[in-house]
Amino acid sequence: MFQLFLPLNFLGFIYREIKASMANIERMFELLDEQPAVPDSGTQTLNINRGEVRFESVGFAYQNGREILHNLSLTLSAGKTLAIVGGSGAGKSTLTKLLFRFYDVGRGRILIDGQDIRDVPQQALRSVLGIVPQDTVLFNDTLLNNLLYAKPDASEQEIQDVIRMAHLEHLVASCPDGLQTVVGERGLKLSGGEKQRIAIARMLLKRPAIMVFDEATSSLDSRTEKGIMAAIREVAAGHTAMIIAHRLSTVVDADCIAVVEQGEVVESGTHQALLAANGFYAQLWSAQQQSSVEGDQP
Ligand code: ADP
Ligand code: MG
Repeated sequence: MFQLFLPLNFLGFIYREIKASMANIERMFELLDEQPAVPDSGTQTLNINRGEVRFESVGFAYQNGREILHNLSLTLSAGKTLAIVGGSGAGKSTLTKLLFRFYDVGRGRILIDGQDIRDVPQQALRSVLGIVPQDTVLFNDTLLNNLLYAKPDASEQEIQDVIRMAHLEHLVASCPDGLQTVVGERGLKLSGGEKQRIAIARMLLKRPAIMVFDEATSSLDSRTEKGIMAAIREVAAGHTAMIIAHRLSTVVDADCIAVVEQGEVVESGTHQALLAANGFYAQLWSAQQQSSVEGDQP
């Protein structure tokens, strides 16, 4: 990982990496305006064993705001996929911000393999986590460097593999300088779907123990989404994964699905069990089936 202990002027490229990683952490959550102050005072070694994540009775409010999460408990079983679904504003992305410790919980705690995430250094925490955020911001750098950022020592073969898995071949082929094309605000502008696929490729390269996908395919058409979900499932196999999903059809195979509404888990179980329960999930499901029959993908 980035060597944060070096003086910033020590080596230009390390400085750039540090700047990039900081910018990314902030940007990936679209929080540039906010100044969250989370003390980075944990000193314990993060011992990743199987990668289980537990949210235990978590309560949370943004500064001076109303409470967003109320006594929420969730377990991401090691090596399994937990899908989170629920309406907009329910608190799903907030869960990801708490897991990355962008904010600290107000009540309760978050544990990774039994360790409170407040007890370990931020850098250790973030090295075992990866996220495909709702809205990816690219660096003003080449496509290749935007990918290598996730794994600076990746081989050419690895890069080619993730380009294929994330369905980026056409994009690379159509860029004037291929992988050396500069993208980002001051370079070639990419669509939301293309940026999402780059973020997915980064995740596929980094392969962290714990993977978070926050509506990671919401900007893709449903055919591309199917292909990419297959790639995500392939890479997430054996890893702990949290998939926040917009279209329920993408998470029917998840090991467990939790429905979050207004900061609480209102239902959880497998797709089949939730349909049988005929509750909230079943309603969402039939509403989405209906609109896809009408050709209007939600
Ligand atoms: P979801 O991802 O389920 O759509 P979010 O977790 O993004 O929901 O948001 C949950 C609630 O928290 C919403 O009411 C939203 O307006 C509020 N919220 C999100 N981010 C912030 C923030 N940085 N400051 C204050 N309120 C926020
Ligand atoms: Mg969200």
